[in-house]
Amino acid sequence: MVTIAVTSEPADEPRVAVSPDTVKKFTGLGALVRIEQGAGLRSRFSDEAYRAAGAEVVGKSEALAGADILLKVRRPSVDEIKALKPGAIVAGMIDPYGDRAELDALSATGATLFSMEFMPRTTRAQSMDVLSSQANLAGYKAVVDGAAMFGQALPMMMTPAGTVPAAKAFIMGVGVAGLQAIATARRLGAQVTATDVRPATKEQVQSLGAKFIAVEDEEFKQAQTSGGYAKPMSAEYQAKQAELVANHIKNQDLVITTALIPGRPAPKLISRAMIESMKPGSVIVDLAAERGGNTEMTEPGKIIETANGVKIFAPLNLAGTIAVNASSLYARNLLAFLETMIDKKEKTLAVNWDDDLVKGTLVAKDGQIVHPNLATKTA
Ligand code: NAD
Repeated sequence: MVTIAVTSEPADEPRVAVSPDTVKKFTGLGALVRIEQGAGLRSRFSDEAYRAAGAEVVGKSEALAGADILLKVRRPSVDEIKALKPGAIVAGMIDPYGDRAELDALSATGATLFSMEFMPRTTRAQSMDVLSSQANLAGYKAVVDGAAMFGQALPMMMTPAGTVPAAKAFIMGVGVAGLQAIATARRLGAQVTATDVRPATKEQVQSLGAKFIAVEDEEFKQAQTSGGYAKPMSAEYQAKQAELVANHIKNQDLVITTALIPGRPAPKLISRAMIESMKPGSVIVDLAAERGGNTEMTEPGKIIETANGVKIFAPLNLAGTIAVNASSLYARNLLAFLETMIDKKEKTLAVNWDDDLVKGTLVAKDGQIVHPNLATKTA
């Protein structure tokens, strides 16, 4: 029987790697889930609900002891991995480009380490795509939190006492988070504009009823990689883009920034001067904070208010602030991935090492870092 361990996450991580729903599914596959007491509480999943779904709710060391698989939201500790079966499978958002010395130590345990962030963006892998499931929720929450901080109404309201004008929302970066931010801002009645460097986004923005603005030159036409991501733009393009943004942003009430380029610091799209041109009371929510932020004034993890009264909110784990939803979707992503590794008839582990999804996400095996993106050891 395949045993799956799930433990609590650190104090700053409210999410959990399994939900009662996925425990039930794992149990149906013939696996035994052992979960640490209280691990789901911050996602409003009680021990009782896990037990009813077929899990054993136990102490941490009992959950880990000799398990075949450890499921996590964040990186586990070396001690957690050492308690598992040698070579056990560990899957989570292990932050592959983060602290390299620590990653090397995790790899040295001999565990089979999977980084869910590396899941290929293919049709088959959509149900396992943790970046999408979490970014979608973050895009929604950015607008809701930004709207609350704005302290003015978003929709136009015509009342006998006069008309309340619609607030103007500007979404920068139209990936998964940006698209959900557009949809949410529209639902709340804001007048929405959006920008991106990838031409494919223009139609997506318009189909959500928002207006697309961008520097649409020759470079823009080539800005998307074959993998669907943005390329870093030239200095000339950035200058033209900055002029466009400078003219537009001074009239905006709520700005949501989500612009990222894989493996690089976030592009600085909003300068100090642009922020100083904005109206008092306007709000920027910077979802790129984890990678340094899209504005020159972003302080990751903080809310600041500038001298001219602009609030800049730079959350580091917005999906975690709606942990019930975030954990439910994340747990489903993990289930969909793990299902490919469990032989349903024999009820044993059966990893297909030639599977693109396994190869794409495998970070370490047999004591070595094996992922091509992590080949050079920096420590
Ligand atoms: P991301 O988080 O890497 O980046 C967010 C957005 O920022 C992107 O739209 C990017 O083009 C934009 N951006 C980067 N530099 C910019 C700049 N200088 N100015 C303005 N915007 C800038 O993106 P993501 O949400 O992970 O999505 C990336 C791609 O992957 C998209 O094409 C998306 O449709 C695709 N995708 C595919 C699948 C799938 O097929 N399974 C799943 C999810 C996403």
